[in-house]
Amino acid sequence: MQNARRGARSVELAVGDLGRFFDLSEFTRSSTATRQGLDNTPTPEALEALRGLVAMILDPLREEEGPVRITSGYRAPAVNAAIRGSRTSQHMKGEAADLKLVRSHNAERVAALLAAMELPVDQCIWYEPDVGGHVHVSFRQDGQQRGQFLRCFRENGRKRYATYIQSTPRSCEFTG
Ligand SMILES: [Zn+2]
Repeated sequence: MQNARRGARSVELAVGDLGRFFDLSEFTRSSTATRQGLDNTPTPEALEALRGLVAMILDPLREEEGPVRITSGYRAPAVNAAIRGSRTSQHMKGEAADLKLVRSHNAERVAALLAAMELPVDQCIWYEPDVGGHVHVSFRQDGQQRGQFLRCFRENGRKRYATYIQSTPRSCEFTG
């Protein structure tokens, strides 16, 4: 049964099996990094942050809603700059991921669900279909979760953000 591909996968899992449902490779793959030859290996701190994000937010969501596709996870600073991400992006800390559900994805419904499940979300932004249709979600390593829910939409050709659900900040730390 053992072949080269299986071998490579088991090595990857040995260093980065994330939570109950995810692999580290889902959070580090980046077509931009591959195309531009950029290293997108997370720092130990970012890896720890990803563990928190998965354990506290993504595993519970996966359990409730089935398979989740990570469209952007960790971004090394050079990768974030290459895709013109925000200079303060939590993706660079391993604290954020963008996702879509594999089955019947609807970004607003996912955001509403994350709120209804009372998960310790730091920030959740759901994007309307014409700005990507994905959900951005973060979990802070320092435990100071802002509980912020925003909607992103396009207006006059620009991305705008509006409060979707009133923020309820809470203290919640991942102690893995
Ligand atoms: Zn994002």
